[in-house]
Amino acid sequence: MDNMVLEQLIDGLGGSLLCCRRDSRLSILYASDSFYSMMGFAKGEITALLGEGPAPVLRNSPPIDWERITEEIIEKGFAKPELRLIKKDGHHIWASYRVRLQQDENGEEYFCGVLENITLSRRSRRQQLEQKRELEALTANVPCGVLRCQNDEFLTLNFASEGFCRMLGYGREEITAMFDNRFIQMVYEKDRSLLLRREVGGKTSGGVTEMTYRVVGKNGNLIWILDKSRLQEDCNGRVWLYSVLLDVTQTQKAQEELAVTEERYHMLLEHAADPIMDFNLKTGQIFYSPTFTARFGVATQKGETLLKYLEESSVIYSRDRKPLMDQMLRLLRGEAQEDGEFRLRGANGRYIWCNVHPTAFFNEQGEATRLIVVISDIDRRKKESIALRQQAEHDLLTGLFNRVTATDRINRVIRESKPGERHAFFVIDIDNFKHVNDHLGHLKGDELIIQTASRIQRLFREKDIVARVGGDEFVVFLRRIASVDMIVKKAESIGDAFRCSLANGCCDLSASIGVSFYPYDGASYEELFRKADAAMYAAKNSGKNSFRVYTREIGELTQMDVGDRVPGP
Ligand code: GH3
Ligand code: MG
Repeated sequence: MDNMVLEQLIDGLGGSLLCCRRDSRLSILYASDSFYSMMGFAKGEITALLGEGPAPVLRNSPPIDWERITEEIIEKGFAKPELRLIKKDGHHIWASYRVRLQQDENGEEYFCGVLENITLSRRSRRQQLEQKRELEALTANVPCGVLRCQNDEFLTLNFASEGFCRMLGYGREEITAMFDNRFIQMVYEKDRSLLLRREVGGKTSGGVTEMTYRVVGKNGNLIWILDKSRLQEDCNGRVWLYSVLLDVTQTQKAQEELAVTEERYHMLLEHAADPIMDFNLKTGQIFYSPTFTARFGVATQKGETLLKYLEESSVIYSRDRKPLMDQMLRLLRGEAQEDGEFRLRGANGRYIWCNVHPTAFFNEQGEATRLIVVISDIDRRKKESIALRQQAEHDLLTGLFNRVTATDRINRVIRESKPGERHAFFVIDIDNFKHVNDHLGHLKGDELIIQTASRIQRLFREKDIVARVGGDEFVVFLRRIASVDMIVKKAESIGDAFRCSLANGCCDLSASIGVSFYPYDGASYEELFRKADAAMYAAKNSGKNSFRVYTREIGELTQMDVGDRVPGP
């Protein structure tokens, strides 16, 4: 093949043939036309790459060490330095010079090789480097990993941010040395196929694919990664896979723990002895434990809201509905968690007393999202305690309040009274009751006490307080009286009630009544009692079967009585 054919061939491949002497000027022995046209010179216008004469065209900085190039050629058979050549118009180009040594007919060695213009690819290489530096700076401080990979089967890393290295505990050199920059090697073996199967930019919105997988950290730990990737084409038409990686190990662990906890919770729910109701406040979904269903039956699977459920549930006893709702509302407002005792209707239709123990769960915004209610049957205990309380607060014979309860309740009403409120305090004592016992016997006496007690009770409103405070002695506390006339009428009707008790006509029965007023005569049970009692004695003294309102004179008389009874010094 002659030079001409060879030159055409090399030209056709986009290169130039160049042969130079190994002298200090790199004198041109031969250069193809394409070399001159690439450089903008006429053929023969330049005779050497270096040295004096026309300005040197080869201007690498630092200069190329041709001795070292020669050694490399001897060692490998060729070398491939990159030459910076200055064109005639002063602009430079970069060319790679694949060169070897040839011998001429005199046995003298010269350089002979092919020049290839690499200006464009060098520029894009430089651009890539700049981009890498830019990416580096941008991602240095973000708390996640950023990767740029080739979209090949190894996901070869082209860039890995500081954050990524920190996340896995590797240095960049280690990633290159240990994994040959193949990201896929760093992924946990079982998750690799998942990663390679992904269709980036396929069915996902905005071309972003999201997936979760595990990578292996330097100390062998598995790290859960949330990966958001997208394919991007650069200006040279190369396609890169950009990924942002978030370490979600903690979240993943928390989710796993949550799943275990939920499972455990459901097991407990299934086997709990106490009925449990689990209300999802967001969806309205209600879960009843098997014991709940067995005890109460289930009316609703889904309540629109908790309030609607509470308003409508047939399980709740009507009078307990409001207090139960109040308890729940307090709880959902974030106020203290408290138990309550309410009557709920069992599956057999009978209401039973239950302790209701609610627990609310709140989200980060402070909204209650879930309510778990544990119910325990306290019917027997509650009924016993109601009976005990009844016994402790009431007089055994008549069922009226006893003295202790009356004192307590009357003092409470007084404490809670608003200015301007007036109350009346009655002391009622049966006249000559000893005679009744003497003539009719103690049992008949008891019966009469019971009868008169219920008659007195019927004369007053539920909010008034009626009590038996002694053998044949009663007190009545009339709340919020409108007028003194009304008191007179009441006293008269009490007198009538006693007279009615004489239906069998065996003996006369009457009562003496004394009245005192709050706030004029006192502001406590004791004071009001003392004064009404003094008025009642005044009635006794003036012939019994009558009533007296406490006056100062009565008070003075009583003082005198007391004075009379007090032994002198
Ligand atoms: P006075 O007109 O002054 O009130 O005379 P009295 O006979 O009613 O005597 P007093 O009020 O001083 O005493 C009440 C009597 O009532 C004393 C007792 O014999 C009788 N008594 C007290 N408790 C009971 C009771 O539970 N049952 C019966 N049957 N009698 C009682
Ligand atoms: Mg009496």
